[in-house]
Amino acid sequence: MIEGLYNKEIVCPVCSESFQVTKVKSRACKVKSRDSDFCVHYDGINPIFYDAWVCENCGYANISDKFEEIPHNEADALREKLMPKWKKHSLGGERNVDTAIEAFKLVLISHDYRKAKASEFAKACLRIAWLYRYKGDEEETRFIRHALEYYKEVYEKESFPVDKMDESTCVYMIGELSNRSGDYNEAVKWFSRLMSSEEARKKPALIEAAREQYQLVKDKLK
Ligand SMILES: [Zn+2]
Repeated sequence: MIEGLYNKEIVCPVCSESFQVTKVKSRACKVKSRDSDFCVHYDGINPIFYDAWVCENCGYANISDKFEEIPHNEADALREKLMPKWKKHSLGGERNVDTAIEAFKLVLISHDYRKAKASEFAKACLRIAWLYRYKGDEEETRFIRHALEYYKEVYEKESFPVDKMDESTCVYMIGELSNRSGDYNEAVKWFSRLMSSEEARKKPALIEAAREQYQLVKDKLK
């Protein structure tokens, strides 16, 4: 295995078998730049490639920090419906952008069977969009639009904070993903909402980012 990666044994909460996941040592990740939708570009190993864990025995997949904490009824649904269809194979070891996309798409399949929350779908779709961006693949836009629909659903239905994301960040994401989808009027609406909100005053860096993006979108609309 290449320098900076290591394996860890995990017990799958769905099938109870153990398997190896590959993780990245934090000192192996060097941030190069950050996009306006928080997509990070790295020098060397990209930790996002390794953030979707897949059980090779049953096919259950989830984002690493949520993998071990799924409710019993959802684990039952996966065992009954996903496991019989799964062809055993491992996504452990070194990954490239394509194996990372495969792993995250398996996360979406597990999300479907589990009837996961919109916030979980939003997170996975956004990461798939970023992976396509690294490749320069137009599929990015399709997943940006999916993520956008899910973030709107989060805003309407879930109570904040949602998995460390506060309401202001969600509003910013809806504005920025609308911008990236080419829906500039919608982007202006959401950025304006953020800039005029009391709640957002606690996050000056986010307001500043919204102001910058608002101006860019206004220029595009001229
Ligand atoms: Zn399993």
